[in-house]
Amino acid sequence: MPTIAMLDPFGRTISYLRVSVTDRCDFRCVYCMAEDMTFLPKAELLSLEELDRLCSTFIRMGVRKLRLTGGEPLVRRGIMTLIDSLGRHLNTGDLDELTLTTNGSQLEKYAALLAAAGVRRINVSLDTLQADKFTALTRWGKLDKVMAGLQAAKAAGLQIKINAVALRGINDNEFDDLIAWCGEEGFDLVLIEVMPMGEIGDAARLDQYLPLSMARAQIQRHWTLDETDYRTGGPARYYVVRETGRRLGFITPMTHNFCESCNRVRLTCTGTLYMCLGQNDAADLRTPLRQSENDALLEAAIREAIARKPKGHDFVIDRRQRTAAVPRHMSVTGG
Ligand code: SAM
Ligand code: SF4
Repeated sequence: MPTIAMLDPFGRTISYLRVSVTDRCDFRCVYCMAEDMTFLPKAELLSLEELDRLCSTFIRMGVRKLRLTGGEPLVRRGIMTLIDSLGRHLNTGDLDELTLTTNGSQLEKYAALLAAAGVRRINVSLDTLQADKFTALTRWGKLDKVMAGLQAAKAAGLQIKINAVALRGINDNEFDDLIAWCGEEGFDLVLIEVMPMGEIGDAARLDQYLPLSMARAQIQRHWTLDETDYRTGGPARYYVVRETGRRLGFITPMTHNFCESCNRVRLTCTGTLYMCLGQNDAADLRTPLRQSENDALLEAAIREAIARKPKGHDFVIDRRQRTAAVPRHMSVTGG
C-alpha cells in the first residue's frame, strides 16, 4: 500500500501508468509511423527486469492501473515474463488492473496466456473491416490475422475494446459497419481523433484529420446514442448505442480538452517518463534506476517529475506549418 499518494501540482492523483515496452512494431500505420522508421538500438532499452522494477515502484507509490503499450507490446521478446511477473500485484490487491493496447497481430498466440496472467480487458486497434484497406493503412498488416486474434481473445474470456482512429476519406464511410460489427461481437468501440505526433512522411495529417463532432453527427443519423456517465478514468466520453447495447466512446484531444481529470503518466522503454502525452517535458528514470539497487533515488526522481506535471496539452494541427506539434511518434509514448 502506498504511504503518500502521488499528487501533481493541480491536485490530481496519479494512479495510472502507461508503459511503452518497445518502440518497435510489426505494422507501419500511416498516421503513426513513417515507412522507413528508425528504431532505438536494442542496447538502449530497459531490460524486462528493469521494467518490472520501475512498474513495481510506481505501484508501491499509488499506481492502481497499468497499461502496456508500444510500439506493439506483443512483439517484445519475452513479454510474457514481464506480464506474468506484474500479475503478482493483482494477486496482492495492490493493482486493480493490468491491461494492454495491441494491434492484435499476435493475439492468437498470446490471448490465453494473457488471461492466465490476470489480464481481463484489452484494447485492440482496428480502423477498418476491409482487408485491402487494412493492409493499405497498416502497410504491413493482415486483417485475417487480427480477426483470428480477436476470436482467440474472446474465447479466452477477455473483454475487448476496439480503438479506431477516425480518418477523413479513409474510414469515415465505415463507422456504421464498425458499430454494427462491434454490436454483433460484443465489443465496445472508441473513435479517436488523429493527433499531430511525429513526422510520418508523405501522408499529411491535415488531410487525415476528421473532427469527431462530425463523425458523431454522421453516426446519429442511423444510431441512437444514449448519454452515460460511464468513465474508465481515461479521456473517452461514452455513449450507449441503443440498437446494439454496446458502448461507443469518443476521444477528442483536438476539439475538446480532456486534461482536467488526467490521472496518468507515461513511461517509455528507455525509462523516460512523460508527464503529458502532448508536451515535451520528460524525466529520466533510467539513471536513478541504475544508480543504486535501492529504490530511494528512483522514488525521489518520480516525485520530482510528478511535481512538474503540466496542466494540459496544446495540440494544434497547424494549417500554416503542417508540422507535428509533438516531434516524437505515438509509438514512443504509446498513445
Ligand atoms: N501498437 C499498438 C496498437 O496499435 O494498438 C499500441 C501502440 S499504438 C501507438 C496506440 C494507439 O495509438 C493505437 O490505437 C493507434 O491507433 C493510436 N495512434 C497512433 N498514432 C496516432 C495518432 N497520430 N493520432 C491518434 N492516435 C494514434
Ligand atoms: Fe504499430 Fe500501433 Fe503505431 Fe500501428 S498504431 S504502427 S500498430 S504502434
